[in-house]
Order: sequence, then C-alpha cells, then structure tokens
Amino acid sequence: MHQYYIEARCPHCHKILNDEEVLIKGKPALKFLVENKGKRGYIWISAIYGDHETIEPEELNILPGDVVRFFCPHCEKPLPILDKCYCKADLIKIELSTGGELKFCNRKGCYYGGISFTNPDDLDKFLGLK
Ligand SMILES: [Zn+2]
Ligand SMILES: [Zn+2]
Repeated sequence: MHQYYIEARCPHCHKILNDEEVLIKGKPALKFLVENKGKRGYIWISAIYGDHETIEPEELNILPGDVVRFFCPHCEKPLPILDKCYCKADLIKIELSTGGELKFCNRKGCYYGGISFTNPDDLDKFLGLK
C-alpha cells in the first residue's frame, strides 16, 4: 500500500508542525504542545496517514480515553476545534501544506478523523500527482 506523508501547518501562525529531528516510520512526525491533567509537554504523532504511532513522554501520563488539549508548538495558541467527535471529545483541525485540512479527535485511543479537500487540485497535490 502506498504511504501518504502528511505535512501540516498551524492554522494560526502557518508554521510547519512536522519535526525534522523526530522521525516516526522514517518521516518527520507532527509535533504538538499538549496539556493533560494540568501537565504540559510535547508529543509527536506519526505523519503517515492512517498510522497511529505516537511518542508521548511518560510524565504527561496520557491514558486511553483521556481528552488532551492541543496547542501549536510554535505560537502556543490552542488549535481550532472544528466539531464534536462522536465520542464527545473535540475534533481538532490543522492545515495541510498542500491545501486541504486534517482533522483528528483529541481523545487518546479514538482514531476518528480524516483528511478533506475543498479544491480538487489540493487532492492532486497531496497524492503527488502535481
Ligand atoms: Zn502556530
Ligand atoms: Zn473521538
């Protein structure tokens, strides 16, 4: 199966969230500032579409079912909430560098979310056709 690499940006400051220094499955992972149970720290999420591998420091104590607040690691603004997930946590929205957006649930262990495009050219760019 072809692996699609997600390069994403903060919707506020538009800086790239992929961290060249932290690779998951060989690709720069998406870095986020998060808050869980009053503790703040950085986590990394695989930038391969459909891959759910993460790097989470133990001190954040993120357990399955926890709802985690997500912030941009650069400007530290809260990432926008698009909608409620069916699990009643929040669906977070970030921008794809190629255009389009990525949404994901902020509950640990809930993999609901996806990628959407309003402009068909953006889909071509994401797929590497342009
Ligand atoms: Zn930002
Ligand atoms: Zn959810």
